[in-house]
Amino acid sequence: MPDKITVKAPSSTANLGPGFDVFGLALNAFHDEVTLTRQDSGINITTDGNIPTRPTDNTAGLVVKNAKRKFKIRDGIKIDIKKRVPAGFGMGSSAASAAAAAVAVDRLFELGLDSDALVELAGSGEKASAGTIHYDNVAASVLGGFVIVRDNPLSVIRIKPPQSLRMCVAVPSITVPKKKTQASRSVIPTMISLKDSITNLSSATSIAAGFASGDSHMIGSSIRDVIVEPARQHMIPGFASVKRNALKAGATGVAISGAGPSVIAFSEKGADMDEIAAAMAKGFASAKTRCQTIICKPSVGAIVRG
Ligand code: ADP
Repeated sequence: MPDKITVKAPSSTANLGPGFDVFGLALNAFHDEVTLTRQDSGINITTDGNIPTRPTDNTAGLVVKNAKRKFKIRDGIKIDIKKRVPAGFGMGSSAASAAAAAVAVDRLFELGLDSDALVELAGSGEKASAGTIHYDNVAASVLGGFVIVRDNPLSVIRIKPPQSLRMCVAVPSITVPKKKTQASRSVIPTMISLKDSITNLSSATSIAAGFASGDSHMIGSSIRDVIVEPARQHMIPGFASVKRNALKAGATGVAISGAGPSVIAFSEKGADMDEIAAAMAKGFASAKTRCQTIICKPSVGAIVRG
């Protein structure tokens, strides 16, 4: 068994509009790198990021703690996190650390976990950030590509995205509240009309069909969410302009990335992605907000670094 292992895991976008808590897509925009090293006892975390270092408050720390208990691991573990996915912006930052930690602990202790067990372990760490467990981001970050989370019992469907799919993420420079995920969940309606549920179901199934048939245009043009987006968009300055501008510049669909505040535009090879990025930045600027734009593609999942 090795003494030390480093795993790199990608950022991700959850929901893709109507696939709330079900869809995830790994993005090659940012990556976290987690190194686990055996030590005599305990769990210690070091990081270059501005994130909690108490093991129970850190998603990677909680993954390691849960794995130690579940698999009766006696060794202590040192965790070093190179934090590159911005935390709290809807880019699956806490999930990237959790995903990398789950894959690393599996390899370091030769646990032989299958895909669903790895996702479940990574998801157990999300409790440290969101307070509740959601598998959409961790599933994408562990497995890569497009994922559909089936709950109870947990099982994840993974589909390789079409090569032609392109995205632009706009990450606004705003201060996100500490409990952002809880805040953005609290505004979602608990009762919805049959009409709205049919619209979202039609959109979500079309997105899944787009991934299954490798049709980038079908994916982007199916991104329509009449339930969560209307309830959340007021939390993102300039959202309506960002969306309108991106669509005008050639995006086929636009969604809030996860719980926000990042916004993601979908398009396909051949589109002028720089123009879409500039249009999104202009949309944020109309609300006196600066943003970082990243043109990206789907990513592979968490991988061990040689
Ligand atoms: P996102 O996953 O979209 O970045 P979340 O709200 O789920 O947003 O997670 C961000 C919160 O999780 C932050 O408050 C951060 O302090 C906390 N957190 C705990 N552990 C980590 C970690 N390893 N990486 C990033 N954020 C973490």
